[in-house]
Amino acid sequence: MKKTIGLLKIGEFDKSILIKLKKNVEREFEEFNISVSIIQEKIPLDEVKYNPIRRQYDASKVLNSIIFYNKDKQYFRILGIMDSDIFTSGLNFVFGIAMSPKFEISRGPVMALISITRLREKFYRRPESMALFELRILKEAIHELGHTFSLEHCNKFCIMRFSNSLADTDEKPPKFCDSCMKKLKNFLKT
Ligand SMILES: [Zn+2]
Ligand SMILES: [Zn+2]
Repeated sequence: MKKTIGLLKIGEFDKSILIKLKKNVEREFEEFNISVSIIQEKIPLDEVKYNPIRRQYDASKVLNSIIFYNKDKQYFRILGIMDSDIFTSGLNFVFGIAMSPKFEISRGPVMALISITRLREKFYRRPESMALFELRILKEAIHELGHTFSLEHCNKFCIMRFSNSLADTDEKPPKFCDSCMKKLKNFLKT
């Protein structure tokens, strides 16, 4: 059976972003016979826990609150996308987080989450560039999905390089390096 990555919209943002992302992610994983679909259900933001002091969402809590969307395991992976700032303990903000595939054995579906808020030029009070915005979303999506396919951070010129800032995201290519690609092929061929 063909494996499917489900894109799950959390909160409000323009649907065209999801449509574009679906096409781009699909192209990226085409050779592995993985398809991408936009999940029809949307998660309202008030269903996920907000941290009013930090004025951010706790990324792990968001993942936990959406996990039941894949309890039937109809999706190979779910990538949640939200347009609100997220953090994890120890970091002021993150572009995204992901579960390790080890999670699947013990507790169920493997999911990842990205926030597109800090990928906009507008966030830094610079004129918007749609092309740049879409490329950054793709990079963060592929990076987090890479983690769900067992890839760790990589120091090479590679999409699996850790991004601590927008400059890091812009510097890394939208592609896996040869060694990550090899690991990915190993993981996905089973
Ligand atoms: Zn990472
Ligand atoms: Zn790499």
